[in-house]
Amino acid sequence: MSNASRASGSADSSDVIVGIDLGTTNSLVALCDAAGPRVLLDERDRALVPSVVRYDADERGAVMATVVGNEAMLPAPEGVASSVTVSSVKRLIGRSLSDARSDLPYLSYHVVPGERDTARVRITPGATASPEEVSALVLSKLKGIAESRLGRAVRRAVITVPAYFDDAQRQATRTAGRLAGLDVVRIVPEPTAAALAYGIGLTRDAQRNRREVSHVVVYDLGGGTFDVSVLRLTPADAAGETDFYQVLATAGDTHLGGDDIDQALARAFGMRLWGGGDGPSAKAEPFAIAGFDREEVAAVVREARRVKHALSEHERAEFRLPEGEEGGGSDGRGWELNRAEFDALITPLVERTLRSCEQAIRDARGKGLPEGPVAEVIDAVILVGGSTRIPLVRERVGGFFGKQLYTAIDPDQAVALGASVQAAILAGTTKGSLLLDVIPLSLGLETVGGAVAKLIVRNSPVPARASEMFSTSVDNQTSIRLTVYQGEREMAADCRKLGELHVRGIPPMPAGLPQLEVTFLVDANGVLNVGAVERRSGKRATMQVVPNHGLTSDEVDRIERESLTHAREDMTRHRIADLISHAMLDVSAISRTLDRVQTLLEPAYAASLREQVAAVRGLVEAAKRDWRSVDPNAFQQAKEALDRASMRLHEVAIAESLQAQLGGGSVRKEPPDSGRSSA
Ligand code: ADP
Ligand code: MG
Repeated sequence: MSNASRASGSADSSDVIVGIDLGTTNSLVALCDAAGPRVLLDERDRALVPSVVRYDADERGAVMATVVGNEAMLPAPEGVASSVTVSSVKRLIGRSLSDARSDLPYLSYHVVPGERDTARVRITPGATASPEEVSALVLSKLKGIAESRLGRAVRRAVITVPAYFDDAQRQATRTAGRLAGLDVVRIVPEPTAAALAYGIGLTRDAQRNRREVSHVVVYDLGGGTFDVSVLRLTPADAAGETDFYQVLATAGDTHLGGDDIDQALARAFGMRLWGGGDGPSAKAEPFAIAGFDREEVAAVVREARRVKHALSEHERAEFRLPEGEEGGGSDGRGWELNRAEFDALITPLVERTLRSCEQAIRDARGKGLPEGPVAEVIDAVILVGGSTRIPLVRERVGGFFGKQLYTAIDPDQAVALGASVQAAILAGTTKGSLLLDVIPLSLGLETVGGAVAKLIVRNSPVPARASEMFSTSVDNQTSIRLTVYQGEREMAADCRKLGELHVRGIPPMPAGLPQLEVTFLVDANGVLNVGAVERRSGKRATMQVVPNHGLTSDEVDRIERESLTHAREDMTRHRIADLISHAMLDVSAISRTLDRVQTLLEPAYAASLREQVAAVRGLVEAAKRDWRSVDPNAFQQAKEALDRASMRLHEVAIAESLQAQLGGGSVRKEPPDSGRSSA
């Protein structure tokens, strides 16, 4: 590290407040600075730290090492006499043993009574640890990640907890933070953090008097738990200090999540492969197969999870056991599963979550959520938790609420990012940069040739909407990729890529015929929704992104300055790019028609047209190699001359088609001399 950065880093180390999502399955740490919120990655660039601690003991039963996170899931190394792996300790934190009793069957380690009906984890044959102590190890790991990423000490944190955590559970979480050397400046409900990650309700000064109370649903399907909350947001008024979030209602199931899907898949696979497995047994019993030991069962469940993740991306995936296991390797005993089969398997589970949504809405009505259709009284629905990546979940939840869901932010990361936003607000550092009244940089789409067509220009007030028609440049394109950019320069390469979407399944059509309508919508919270629909086939695609995440106001200023410096050159380049794509369309259409009606044309006309086509094609090739080598005016004139010269060709072609239709025959099958009459 350079001296300069160290000097500036240590000077204000007390300012840093990180946001931490201390999850049942996974935990993360995030920081919000001038560029907005971001997750801090570990030394191998991983965002998620599994909330798992492995205690390794020597022969005498003394703990010789504690390992946290991804490494804790690996078997203990040589020399370790015994080890205990502790996961999901969040299920125990701050609860009495009597309260937690129903959770014990889900835990893979022993829980023993401590003082005053507390629960303790057996970590070696002779020693126990409190849930706070176990959580503190996870928090220390996160603190260490933050410190090595930031190159400075981190002492303060905002930590999130489920909305339904009671006072004892919140206190115990604070204690865990203290044990990890962290001053917990605030405990924030997870759904509130998710809303903050999207900037929902961060009041803009200009809007203070305009904004009204809003209601937000947060649907959180994680590894082992599901909960749905209805939040009410009361924006700060002119006199008020901060916006006010209130959890109106929460519902859910503390034993419903991705793990259940893994188990169900493993069980289905077991039945398929071994004719029954253990049958669909009670949910609390982990999947088991007669004659298989724990390791082998664990391998089946791991494979189930891999298949599940693959099916979020792909239409089908193959279930295969690792080399060496029965049914694995190359003996061909795999099982291909498609999306529809997977959906059928998890439908009951997804429906249970929808019943909880109904319940939460009902409860919220009693607390002042207005009557009326859900889609109207709920302003936003946010998806959180890794399991909301499953397409069926998105489809059903979207259907239930009748709304476009907020999915732009990685569902694993939303809670941690929101915690960091809360932290930044408390630190008083960055609130200003998180808010926007106007769109700071233009938003657009890459067009053929690499130019950007801007749909929404900078400084448009939010919310903003724009739509435009596009088409294809190549014949028989059955899928169209749209790439979304942000910036002021004319060429995509000089702008910031925000994401892409693919419209697939378009029937083959000549270039230029598909009618692709693309709509950009930036809502009041600054979330950009891009929708594309091909009108002839009805095929559509959508994507969502938060354009301002990762963008500082200094960068916005720099981008604006650069665009002025490059304005003239950029304009020429954009013009050339457009000329290339239009000329290419002309050249291919004219050549095709020429081939078809050649015999109907005066030979001299046909020859001169071919010459002009060749000239324009030459300009296209030259401009593609180096846009500076072509004079845009000369290029445009050549293209226009070709367009004029080809008018006669098009007339002949139309007449010929009409003739062919009257004759009932198909154009291409006509013998070369039969069209003479139309000439
Ligand atoms: P928690 O909040 O309980 O700590 P997470 O939000 O991290 O949990 O969610 C973890 C769960 O998300 C796991 O069950 C994991 O398998 C699931 N998950 C992660 N990515 C995907 C994906 N692409 N498709 C389906 N499930 C996923
Ligand atoms: Mg979570």
